[in-house]
Amino acid sequence: MIEKELICVTCPMGCRITVTMEGKEVLSVKGNTCPRGEAYARQECVQPMRILTSTVRITDGTHRVLPVITEKEIPLEKMSEAMSEVREVTVSAPIEVNDVIIENIAGTGVRLIASRSMARL
Ligand code: SF4
Repeated sequence: MIEKELICVTCPMGCRITVTMEGKEVLSVKGNTCPRGEAYARQECVQPMRILTSTVRITDGTHRVLPVITEKEIPLEKMSEAMSEVREVTVSAPIEVNDVIIENIAGTGVRLIASRSMARL
């Protein structure tokens, strides 16, 4: 049995949460002020999720790189594979904000999209 200490990042209160686990099973969650904190702590301990933000190369654009972001969180364990895919991508200007850059990043079912528009030079 192990105890993990977390700070809930779901809202600015930043409650300190203690999760007791047996292997991958959550036995108890303490310290959260609301149910969202428990949900966050369980997710963080069983399968942590993150939004990926990065840049991809762009040709003929007003800048050399284009900022991109995943539409939703993806499993933290998929982040390295996802970044490998991001590094392989080169797009061409013009690009509109929310254009899809990668349809199914790292097999997660989540789209990587442009987080800004970029005109052609
Ligand atoms: S447990 Fe609830 S109140 Fe506390 S930081 Fe998380 S979301 Fe906010």
